[in-house]
Amino acid sequence: MKTKTIVLKFGGTSVGSIERIKAVSKIILSYKKKNTRVAAISSAMSGVTNDLIKKTKLISNNFDSAEYDTLVSTGEQMACALIAGKLKALGQNSRSWLSWQLPILTEGNYSNSRISNIKTKELKNFMNNGGIPIITGFQGINSQLRLTTIGRSGSDASAIMLAKFLKADECIIYTDVDGVYTTDPRINKKAKKIKKIFYDEMLEMSSLGSKVMQPTSVQDAKLNKIDITVKSSFVKKEGTLINGSKKIFSNQIITGISSTKDDAKITIIGVKDKPGVAAAIFKPLSDNSVNVDMVVQNISLNKKETDITFTIKSDDLKKTEKLIRNNKKIQYKKISFDKNLSKISIIGVGMITTPGITYRMFNALAKKKININVITTSEIKISVLISNKDIKKAVACLHKEFKLD
Ligand code: ADP
Ligand code: ASP
Ligand code: MG
Repeated sequence: MKTKTIVLKFGGTSVGSIERIKAVSKIILSYKKKNTRVAAISSAMSGVTNDLIKKTKLISNNFDSAEYDTLVSTGEQMACALIAGKLKALGQNSRSWLSWQLPILTEGNYSNSRISNIKTKELKNFMNNGGIPIITGFQGINSQLRLTTIGRSGSDASAIMLAKFLKADECIIYTDVDGVYTTDPRINKKAKKIKKIFYDEMLEMSSLGSKVMQPTSVQDAKLNKIDITVKSSFVKKEGTLINGSKKIFSNQIITGISSTKDDAKITIIGVKDKPGVAAAIFKPLSDNSVNVDMVVQNISLNKKETDITFTIKSDDLKKTEKLIRNNKKIQYKKISFDKNLSKISIIGVGMITTPGITYRMFNALAKKKININVITTSEIKISVLISNKDIKKAVACLHKEFKLD
């Protein structure tokens, strides 16, 4: 019989207390059978990473980036040692592995690195002898042997990449919901669990605000054809399968609805309508790591001037305002800023072959008197920018309109 390799990942809430550490240790043990090798990735106990980040802010708003990663990655070390310690107390052969001990190699900038390789030789030896390795998510080391982190919620990607380098048969993401839902169950009580979802749909949903899976991890899973199961560590229930194969017959046009909050909108009125202007506006933003999301340029009526609207995260608003006002390369008549906005998106591959979806979305929102600020679309999603206060109402009416209730 072929030996099966399984990678499990536990998120912050799943390991959020000593009781939870004990509970996940039991889950890990339940996978330990004959001809099965298990490895687990853990993220930090919930709240720990946020607390560490707060500490850096108390020192400086410009905290050294290498030290930042060294600090904020410590939560994972604590969680892994606790789980391995519990497994040992249960008489199991287990140990923790920190990223540098394998190592998990990363490339790119601090706080936002990507895993490029994971050395698995020692892990495999350990597992072949019945050991259960508990490995830190979120962290890695770069070519200078400095600790790095791979972006918030990065343990999802750590698990996918470990599954890749171990050539695992299964990768199970244990979290605090029992799967991927049609929309965030905390925002809409009528959300339904999705049995199977395509990588592309999951990628759109997570990039558009469904925090259940981190976008990079879904991208890594798609590139490496790794099937993901999302499950609850709290209740024993069938989860959601994310992969690239066709869904079981379904006439669902929209698979899910995602939302973000705390977006901000900037409109620059009366900028010159000539080549290079958009680039001149966005270059300083890019240089200063401001992430620009939706961009709309109005048709210029007189062919001389136009208006450009774009959205960013509210946290970046002050910085962006300063960058635009100090930008000597652009001239404009007026500039306006709006905060407290939210982006609601409907996602589904069924959209490609079904006409009239845009109309149905706009009409459903109009009936609830929800004003749309900006619209963007792609082949499998439509996003609209609305006021934060309308999020719940908008999600509920779209959930109903597209028969997800
Ligand atoms: P973990 O700590 O396990 O990584 P996260 O907090 O990152 O967990 O992700 C789980 C949370 O994602 C859930 O508690 C849920 O509120 C939220 N969420 C947002 N959108 C969805 C969705 N479409 N389906 C399921 N959960 C969602
Ligand atoms: N602990 C890290 C974070 O809070 C990574 C993770 O949870 O996946 O972002
Ligand atoms: Mg997460």
